[in-house]
Amino acid sequence: MMRVFNIERFATHDGDGIRTVVFLKGCPLRCPWCSNPESREPARQLFHTAGKCLGCGSCQKVCPAGAVRYEGGRVHFRVEICTECGACADICPGEALEFVGRQMEAEEIVREVLRDRDYYEESGGGVTLSGGEPFAQSGELVRLLLLLKQQGLNTAVETAGQYPTERLEEAFPYVDTWLYDVKHIEEEKLRTVVGGDWGQIEKNLRFLAGRDSSRIVIRVPVIPGFNDCAETLERIIGLAAGLEIRRVDLLPYHTLGREKYDKLSMDYSLKGIPMMDRKSLYPLGAVGRKLGVEVTVGGRKTD
Ligand code: SF4
Ligand code: SF4
Repeated sequence: MMRVFNIERFATHDGDGIRTVVFLKGCPLRCPWCSNPESREPARQLFHTAGKCLGCGSCQKVCPAGAVRYEGGRVHFRVEICTECGACADICPGEALEFVGRQMEAEEIVREVLRDRDYYEESGGGVTLSGGEPFAQSGELVRLLLLLKQQGLNTAVETAGQYPTERLEEAFPYVDTWLYDVKHIEEEKLRTVVGGDWGQIEKNLRFLAGRDSSRIVIRVPVIPGFNDCAETLERIIGLAAGLEIRRVDLLPYHTLGREKYDKLSMDYSLKGIPMMDRKSLYPLGAVGRKLGVEVTVGGRKTD
C-alpha cells in the first residue's frame, strides 16, 4: 500500500508535457518553506479549518486515543498517537475536520493515471511522482514505477536525494526524468535549516549524473535569507555544469500553501516574507549560458 495525499491532473510544471502528479506522503527533511507540510508525516493527518470550527470541543471528547485537544480556539492533534479512526471528523458539527492522505495500491494509482493517457500521448507528457519524498516509500515506489513503464508511460520523479544510494539504483531503470532538488550546497546550512545531509544528497546526484546526466533537471527553491545570494546560486549552477547537467530550474519563493500550516496547527517561520519577484533571478540566466547550462525560472526561460 502507498500513502498518497494528492493526485493532480493536467499539471504542466513538473516535467515535460501534460502530466499527472502523484504526491506521496513522508519526508525526512523539514524545509520551513514547504508548500505541502501535510506531506511530512507518513500517516494520514487531519486538517482543521478554524473558520468552520464552532468551538464545541466534541472532537476532544470522542477521541479514544487522547490525540486531539481543543484549546485557545484551535484544535491540536498528536499525529503520533492518532489511530485514524475518524471519530472526530464524523462528529464535527461544523465539518471543520478533514483527513488528508489515503492508502492506495500501486495498481489503483496506475488505473487512475491511465485516465489521461491520451493527453500524455498528445503532449509528450506522463506521470510525475512527487511528495514529500517519494523515496520515503521506496519499495512500493519501485513497483509503481515498474507498473507505469509496463503501460508505456513516461515517468518523472521529484526527489531531494536524502536516502541510501541503493534505493536509486533500484529505481533508475524505470525513471525517464529526475527532478532533483538542491536546496543548498553548504553542509552546515542544509543540516541546520532543513535537516539535510549534503554528503548523501551530493553522492546521489553524482550517482545519477554518472549514469545519465541528460535525464536530470536540478531544481532550486530560492528562499530569502537561506540561499538567495548570487554566489550560492552560481555555485549550484557551476555544480550542474561540472556534472554535465544541462538544466537548472530556479523556483522563486512563494507563499502558496501558507494556510495549510494553520490547518495542521504548525508554525510557519517565514511569516511576513513576501513572494519573490521572479525577474530578480533572470541575471542568473547569463551565468548559466556561460557554463552551457540552461537556467529557467519557474520553468520559464530567462532571455
Ligand atoms: S482520527 Fe480518531 S484517534 Fe485520530 S484524532 Fe480523530 S478521534 Fe482521535
Ligand atoms: S468538533 Fe469540530 S467544531 Fe467542534 S471543536 Fe472540534 S473541530 Fe471545532
